[in-house]
Amino acid sequence: SRSAARTAHAADRAAARECSIVTAEGGVPLVTGEYAEYANFDYAASAPCLTSVAEALSEALPFYASVHRGAGHHSQVSTDAYERARRSVARFLGVRTQADQGGSADAVVFVRGTTDAVNLLARAVPEGCTVVVFESEHHASLLPWEHPASRAAKVVRLPLPESPEAAVGAARAALAEAPEGPRLLCVTAASNVTGEIWPVEELVEAAHAEGARVLVDAAQYVPHLPFSLTGTGADYVALSGHKLYAPFGSGVLAGRADWLREATPYLAGGGATRKVTEHDVVWNDLPARHEAGSPNVLGAVALAAACETFTNRTLSLQHIREAALLERLRAGLAEIDGVHELTLWGAEHARVGIVSFVVDGLPADLLASALSAEYGIGVRDGLFCAHPLTGHLLPEGHTQAVRASLGVGTTEEHVDRLVGAVADLVARGP
Ligand code: PLP
Repeated sequence: SRSAARTAHAADRAAARECSIVTAEGGVPLVTGEYAEYANFDYAASAPCLTSVAEALSEALPFYASVHRGAGHHSQVSTDAYERARRSVARFLGVRTQADQGGSADAVVFVRGTTDAVNLLARAVPEGCTVVVFESEHHASLLPWEHPASRAAKVVRLPLPESPEAAVGAARAALAEAPEGPRLLCVTAASNVTGEIWPVEELVEAAHAEGARVLVDAAQYVPHLPFSLTGTGADYVALSGHKLYAPFGSGVLAGRADWLREATPYLAGGGATRKVTEHDVVWNDLPARHEAGSPNVLGAVALAAACETFTNRTLSLQHIREAALLERLRAGLAEIDGVHELTLWGAEHARVGIVSFVVDGLPADLLASALSAEYGIGVRDGLFCAHPLTGHLLPEGHTQAVRASLGVGTTEEHVDRLVGAVADLVARGP
């Protein structure tokens, strides 16, 4: 309707002001020898750097020094920046403060990304822990529990649920049947393959009713929608800086402190220790306990700048804007003969700005290469590090899919170019 279009346009302008990104000048080369403005549809892999992140990095760079250990001025400035970054990330994720819990505050541990965060928790769960996980997970959330270094005693893999309600029922039943002892459900908030949003609050409620904890993989959710540990009741959350418009190498595991405090440090080394003698070592308390080695201060500063830019308001504006672009893209693709979208719970289910699809008669890798070389469009093709899910969703005769993911720099022109290009390539044939 006209009023929905007006709201989307107002959101567009407001969000664009606050969330600009650093772009390369001059466009990208095409096979024709011409240059095109790059139409990036690969935000779900890694999002470009926000201008606010780049500014925060250039402010921090002159003071770049090792944190926590140096007495010099720059080391103190960097230490302040690092710890301020932790507080910004904590606010962004709505962590529980001491007063909320009547116990200890949630821990916020800087890691390298979501994969690192889940591996850390897999090594920190208590002895005898049962971990329940859906097969639909990204490998980063699926596999660390089964790694030899994991402390999980038992891992239960649940098949792909037919509906969000079935997911809640299956998780609850598996947790109820788990052996006595600690239990953890690991679930993704938004799928990196279909963009579909999982019923996190309902899953948390079901898990808590069975006395279990929940880890939320929010890697694909937080670049699109606000997430709060306090609001959802989830026990842990993991995310990656590079999917949140900050450079690579920073991420967070935040949540209940007790398991993390009692666990052996994730890495042994400087920073994680309080005292080392010839025969003994006394490990540090949180968060340093799991941050051995020289901390990635610039990564933390960058991630925090992104967290400060994406307030609830900006994320909501972005979401309205992205939802309109996503609709335009999906409607355009649906018009093209032989295009099939991958969805677990149907086209109507809520999702973030991701759409994976296949085209009959056009292998995904060829399609992705042609989109890049001829139209300046960047998509991803493959199985998206979620082989069980993608394998299940691919229609007969397809071995890979193309994924188009949207973000703050996506425009209507990009969407129309992608739809037009797919239509052209389909018309041309293999
Ligand atoms: N979880 C989800 C849902 C993802 O999409 C990804 C990355 O694609 C990851 C985890 C892993 O993130 P990283 O590679 O930053 O560790």
